[in-house]
Amino acid sequence: MMNGKMKALVIYKPNDLRVEEVDIPKIKDDEVLVKVEAVGICGSDIEIKNGTYPDYIAYPIIPGHETAGTIVEVGKNVLGFRVGDRVAIEPHAGCGQCKNCKVGYYSYCVNYGKPGHRTLGFTVNGGFAEYVAAPARNLHKLPSNMSFEEGAMAVSAGTSMFGLMEIGVDAGEFIVIIGPGPIGLTSLALAKALGAGTTVMVGTRWSRLNLAKALGADVLVNVREGQDPVKVVMELTDGLGADLVINTTPSPESVAQSVKMLRRNGRLLMLGITWEPTPLVLGEIVVKGITIKGTRGEARNALERVISLASSGKIDLKKVITHTFPLSEVIHAFEVFEKRVGDPVKVVVKP
Ligand SMILES: [Zn+2]
Ligand SMILES: [Zn+2]
Repeated sequence: MMNGKMKALVIYKPNDLRVEEVDIPKIKDDEVLVKVEAVGICGSDIEIKNGTYPDYIAYPIIPGHETAGTIVEVGKNVLGFRVGDRVAIEPHAGCGQCKNCKVGYYSYCVNYGKPGHRTLGFTVNGGFAEYVAAPARNLHKLPSNMSFEEGAMAVSAGTSMFGLMEIGVDAGEFIVIIGPGPIGLTSLALAKALGAGTTVMVGTRWSRLNLAKALGADVLVNVREGQDPVKVVMELTDGLGADLVINTTPSPESVAQSVKMLRRNGRLLMLGITWEPTPLVLGEIVVKGITIKGTRGEARNALERVISLASSGKIDLKKVITHTFPLSEVIHAFEVFEKRVGDPVKVVVKP
């Protein structure tokens, strides 16, 4: 057992963040201790900081759920992982016992927040620390050609991958992605790797839209410059509409637009979260035969697929990482991410 202290970011309660010395976590028999090498800041970390996350948070908590590092200790029931292995850690472990967990939908665990359930960085301590304890079933080995930063980014992309696995992507489909943030950009890269035809990225800032271009988007639409994404998509598809829209923004108007730009029998994947009432004309959904699917987090081993695609060069996760900070500057890093200082996309902290 490793004893001693480590540096960690602890959120005691909303807007009470402290970087301080805490005990190194003690692992259980089915867990490993990971020396954290990279951990990404996610929109949900900001919600945990602000007290606006729409589900249970175990304050005081060490946040951080997009974590990669090196195993330094293994529990006695751990199979297939050894000290020295480089790993990315999937945050959702679920309870392993409920109906959803049993079929691999552990991000929809019905026992969320109860004893026996765990989601790293939400209901148990996460990766904004020098060390983190993680169950072996959440570990994914990182190939030697992937950096720890890419490993952390892969966890984030697991959310995009799970969404695409659930909604399905057919070869050659016309796909629109709304919102060129980390989830939108990785959705674009993954959709292309899965065989997308024409891809359109809709956003409001050229810095991010140009990243989409670098990741292979065929058409960019900047709504802030007055471009109407529905009109653009209809023109590009001879008035038929897109096969699939992936919406990663929290804007109700963009959800309404998503339905309008879909073809008959089209699909809408919702990865962005809004709690605002959203103006949808149900008749349009029925008459056009639209499928709307929301997905949460990464499940069904999506992270394994992301790592395989990144390692084999089918997707480039490095392009999405714009800022890195040491753990001592993590509170500043949160601020940079939240206030968009210097236009960050993915901010990674390296303990
Ligand atoms: Zn996240
Ligand atoms: Zn469960």
